[in-house]
Amino acid sequence: MKIGVLALQGAVAEHIRSIELAGGEGVAVKRTEQLEEIDGLIIPGGESTTIGKLMRKYGFIEAVRGYAAAGKPVFGTCAGLIVLAERLTGDEEPHLQLMDMTVARNAFGRQRESFETDLPVKGIESPLRAVFIRAPLITEVGPDVEVLSVYKDEIVTARQGHLLAASYHPELTDDYRLHGLFIDMAREAAGQGQR
Ligand code: GLN
Repeated sequence: MKIGVLALQGAVAEHIRSIELAGGEGVAVKRTEQLEEIDGLIIPGGESTTIGKLMRKYGFIEAVRGYAAAGKPVFGTCAGLIVLAERLTGDEEPHLQLMDMTVARNAFGRQRESFETDLPVKGIESPLRAVFIRAPLITEVGPDVEVLSVYKDEIVTARQGHLLAASYHPELTDDYRLHGLFIDMAREAAGQGQR
């Protein structure tokens, strides 16, 4: 499976490495035309306001909405999760508005700006090593969204059909199983069954 990583800003090389460790082919996506060549798209962590601004500037908002509407899988991590959300708390402008959830940015407060934990995730056999950096939280999900993990009662991983979202950085450790799960989603969407 060829998995693209949106390469406008943020942790791109690390995601490409995890995709390759999980058995996929990773490509940096810089132009909307490249969406035609990939079986799934990752929107990485970084700074969501900047990523959103650059997506608008280069035509990625409409292009990724069309890509997702065609049933292609999209995975947002950290800032990428914020970009996927239908609603943001406060008066923050949402970006792609693809996933039926409300997201609070920088939700862990100053004392817990960044930390690592072993996180149980539905569909992954043992806890996943997760790195949280100025992480967002999912404060509310719609009926079609499946909660895949909670950390201290707060939702941090969720799936809505072919859309996947994680509050943390799964690409900063050698635990690439969430990338494996996303590659399986891409294979399913491409009609090729499981790994
Ligand atoms: N705090 C960032 C934002 O609001 C997200 C942090 C991250 O991606 N590590 O965009």
